[in-house]
Amino acid sequence: MSVVKKPENKESQFRDKLATVDSKGKRIWVYPKKPKGRYTNYRTWLSYVYFLILFGLPFIKLNGEPLVLLNIPERNFIIFGMHFGPQDFYLFAIGMLILLVFIILFTVVYGRLFCGWICPQTVFLELMFRRIEYAIEGDHNEQRKLSVAPWDTNKIIKKVSKHIIFFVLSVIIANTFLAYIIGIDEVKKIITEPLSQHFGGFAAMLIFSAVFYYVFASLREQVCITICPYGRLQGVMLDDKSLVVAYDFVRGEPRGKIKKSMAKPAPLAATSVKTTAANADVSQDYFDSMKEQVLGDCIDCSLCVQVCPTGIDIRNGTQLECVNCTACMDACDEVMDKIERPRGLIRLDSIEGITQGKRHIFNARTIGYSVVLFVLIGIEVLLFALRSDVDVLFLRAGGLLNQRNEDGTISNLYNYQLDNKTSKDLHIEFKLLDPAVGTFEFVGNVQPEVAKNSHGKGTVFIKIPEEKLESGKNKIVIGVYSDGELITKVKTTFFGPIK
Ligand code: SF4
Ligand code: SF4
Repeated sequence: MSVVKKPENKESQFRDKLATVDSKGKRIWVYPKKPKGRYTNYRTWLSYVYFLILFGLPFIKLNGEPLVLLNIPERNFIIFGMHFGPQDFYLFAIGMLILLVFIILFTVVYGRLFCGWICPQTVFLELMFRRIEYAIEGDHNEQRKLSVAPWDTNKIIKKVSKHIIFFVLSVIIANTFLAYIIGIDEVKKIITEPLSQHFGGFAAMLIFSAVFYYVFASLREQVCITICPYGRLQGVMLDDKSLVVAYDFVRGEPRGKIKKSMAKPAPLAATSVKTTAANADVSQDYFDSMKEQVLGDCIDCSLCVQVCPTGIDIRNGTQLECVNCTACMDACDEVMDKIERPRGLIRLDSIEGITQGKRHIFNARTIGYSVVLFVLIGIEVLLFALRSDVDVLFLRAGGLLNQRNEDGTISNLYNYQLDNKTSKDLHIEFKLLDPAVGTFEFVGNVQPEVAKNSHGKGTVFIKIPEEKLESGKNKIVIGVYSDGELITKVKTTFFGPIK
């Protein structure tokens, strides 16, 4: 993986070990300082929208059905009112490819921003569970003290109440995820009806709850560091042009505490060049004044390390553990404000941006991925457009020849299959479109009907006047109607008499 090179004069063993594991292989518990600042505020607001959608979606119904249902065991999927089943696997496969290419493209351009801002693991941990922890146990120093304090009443109350809340939240999250799989009505039944009627569902709920509780109360950042496959792929996806949370070592080094005798840089207000935290462009005046200083902008306060939920020091360079949560950016910006230096010493930037002041998001790699992505999206859209709500299959009954009838028609026997992907029961009618004359005679007089989101099948004789047929194989087109509306057409072969 390309990384921002760390300064030569610093010890360089940090890549040989995990920040959260000591030399004996024992886990080092991370007590991150409570982050605050504008990026934290953005994430907090985003999390509110996120929770609203995630917890609200299972309750929304369309025509009496869930808006979104991902019933994997029964291979029944509803996405915004559209039904998908095993027959739509090709759409699912292309959808997965699109997702994969999108993730690669997004990561190549924006690094691991998904991890810190969108991934449920981070959003739940940092913006739900960790917030409760801060509220009950206090900030990082109080948490540290509490962890080594004797088990007195205060500690028992804090720890027990925290874990009860954690477990209740885990149960709510588990139920929500279950609602996406089996639907909210089934979840309600599991909760309200006798346990004996829903033992399997109850067991699933309990297992999900226990897993979520373990992940958010104990495993925490280890999921991102050691388990998540996406995290493991960063090394091959990031390059010098990818935007990552990065420390500007050009500006920051050599780091050191500010001494009163040091020259203060020219005030930013007096400069003409735009200064923002995002790009930290600074004026020539500023750099001129910085040259007079021996030290860089980093005052080595370690606040960026203290707020890091994965326990790393971003000043060492891009690291696998960094989930791009931007907490260190907020912490450092606050420091820069206090010492009256430009924000953005730690910022979202590429290695090229830091070392050369250049940002080239569009390069051969990103353009290549973009082309592949657009082609895949185009194919998916096309397949969606061609997809009918009802799949119909007509197969001639094997081993049977055609039959000449007294009324001058020739009949062939067919087995048909219907697949209703809509949310309403369908009363199906078949009509011959080519040739436009002919009749359908259902075996056992069973009319084709198929309930919503299910399959149906039957057997039917198709009768066509002999004069409309050519000798041997004929291609015929059958129109499939529901409530008088043509929903799809099916082509099949019809055997006429050999002339
Ligand atoms: S280094 Fe910064 S962005 Fe990366 S995980 Fe730590 S605090 Fe978050
Ligand atoms: S918060 Fe900023 S100034 Fe403080 S140690 Fe980190 S990079 Fe240096």
